[in-house]
Amino acid sequence: MPVELEYPDGTVVAHPDGVTGLDVARSIGPGLAKAAVAVSVNGNLLDLSTPLQSSGEFSVITLDSPEGLDVLRHSSAHVLAQAVLDLFPGATFAIGPPIEDGFYYDFAVEDPFTPDDLERVSARMEEIIHEDQPFQREVMTIDEALAVFADHRFKVEIIKSVEPTEVESTEAVSAYRNQDFIDLCRGPHLPSTGRIPAIKLLRSSGAYWRGDEANEQLQRIYGTAWASKGDLDAYLDRLEEAARRDHRKLGPELDLYSFPEDLGIGLAIWHPKGGILRTLVEDHSRAIHARYGFDYVFSPHIAKADLWHTSGHLDFYAENMYPGMKAGDDPEYRVKPMNCPFHILVYQSRGRSYRDLPMRLSELGGVYRYEKSGQMHGLLRVRGMTQDDSHTFCTEDQIQDELTLHLRFVINWLTDFGFTEFEADLSTRPEKAVGDPERWRITEAALAEALRVTGVPYQIAEGEGAFYGPKIDVHIRDAIGRRWQCSTIQLDFNEPERFGMGYVTPENTTERPYMIHCAKAGSIERFIGVMVEHYAGAFPMWLAPVQVTVVPVADRHLDYAREVAATLGEAGLRVEVDDSNDSLGDKVRTAITQKHPAVIVVGDADVEERTVGLRFYGEDRDTRGVPLDQAEKSLVEKAAKPGE
Ligand SMILES: [Zn+2]
Ligand SMILES: [Zn+2]
Repeated sequence: MPVELEYPDGTVVAHPDGVTGLDVARSIGPGLAKAAVAVSVNGNLLDLSTPLQSSGEFSVITLDSPEGLDVLRHSSAHVLAQAVLDLFPGATFAIGPPIEDGFYYDFAVEDPFTPDDLERVSARMEEIIHEDQPFQREVMTIDEALAVFADHRFKVEIIKSVEPTEVESTEAVSAYRNQDFIDLCRGPHLPSTGRIPAIKLLRSSGAYWRGDEANEQLQRIYGTAWASKGDLDAYLDRLEEAARRDHRKLGPELDLYSFPEDLGIGLAIWHPKGGILRTLVEDHSRAIHARYGFDYVFSPHIAKADLWHTSGHLDFYAENMYPGMKAGDDPEYRVKPMNCPFHILVYQSRGRSYRDLPMRLSELGGVYRYEKSGQMHGLLRVRGMTQDDSHTFCTEDQIQDELTLHLRFVINWLTDFGFTEFEADLSTRPEKAVGDPERWRITEAALAEALRVTGVPYQIAEGEGAFYGPKIDVHIRDAIGRRWQCSTIQLDFNEPERFGMGYVTPENTTERPYMIHCAKAGSIERFIGVMVEHYAGAFPMWLAPVQVTVVPVADRHLDYAREVAATLGEAGLRVEVDDSNDSLGDKVRTAITQKHPAVIVVGDADVEERTVGLRFYGEDRDTRGVPLDQAEKSLVEKAAKPGE
């Protein structure tokens, strides 16, 4: 049957029966045909060699699109598996998907891969790519597939798990073959292995089959593949830059925090300098909450299990909660994974009327969540964290203003900490949802309006909301362009229902309040982790644990150095005197590697003239002979907190 294809520019062209994606690309232009790696028909990706069966929207996929990169990385994963099976007799392969910026493949092998192994695998992959082996799609029945993959137990498990209803009658299972290697795969693929322009293996690590610690441990190899050598090099540079900024490395180096094994996985301790940083962040949180009209409350770390039954957490969140504890004749208690029920209890502590609303309760609440140990990542994923949490209760008439206020608050908060690029996701009602559909409609519209008036760019994540309410997630971009999710504004139609919350209206009827959960930083731990990476440890002066280091040129200048430090200290600055026996050069270097925002050097002339040598972080020399009072003035100005 001939097919009618609508190109991205809107033109519709009829093509004869049996035409392939490559034929169509050629008819458009030889350059496009050369760059093509797959085609899309009505959003379905197909191999270039597949005869097109249906009319509809058509586009050619090249490596400069995310879909094209996915095809490239998928094909690269096959080459990786092919190389490993070639080199390690007895090895078998599990799954190997494309991921952001690359791909991986999981294997069952006798011993974990060594760096030497990775080099051998890499060399074998280069050979396979050089041979330019064509990828060929093969379609087989489930029984045929079970026979083809009989020696590979994970593949057999995958084939057996294919739901008969999921597959079309003609296509039970598809696989891709290049030379004598074959892998299960939906496709599409590059036409041949030679079309991989730039590839590199990165590292290996342990991983569990299907991500479950109860299953067999496999060995995962990560790799990356790009449209050009230049793109690959740029990516490797970004990785290196990210490693230089890694907060797990910088935290201990700057003496901020650490993760001692004795403490347990996913838990951090804060050293004195980290304590200063954290206190500054928390004080700013309290101050800005107060400015936006939030009241501060406190709640305990544990509560009776009954409370978590009422809230429903023991129904839908139990796997992330630590097990119950019992002492004496007491009922069972649970450590809190969230602060919400406590704030509801504050609301419920007496009868409420419309005059009490909006009620905005906030707390820096310590919560504990059981997360799989493999998911822990420094401060970014922890088991014990402090949320800058708030819960707002309001009427329907107030919901628009409240949501706009919450979003303004979030943007204000992030801006204060030096983040300037935001993107939001608005997640809407999923298929399975609780709550009045009218309330969903009102709040989804109100969230969109809040985004509109604040001018935050956003996209709609259709059906991605929690079952109990829609939400906005705000993502920030850091100094090297990485996207981090921090803040959330989440509606909740479930908790007010479960706790039977109400307020008395002016007409003397009782209404259910609207409830908004909101975390601005997310968790203080995670937020500080992100900041350490964003600033690479060189914080803006108001956040720096040590703001000024005073360095005497020689011992005879020590008294004056102490006097300078005392003067600056009285002006509210955090100052250290380096009275070590190190040379002047070493002392200055130490202050710089510790990323202190300012270094003051004092020598003979300074003692006489009551001046200092002043140098800010990032400058390559100091300004000599600055009068002390002038230095003080400029330091105090630079150290001002946002909004001061
Ligand atoms: Zn594949
Ligand atoms: Zn909450």
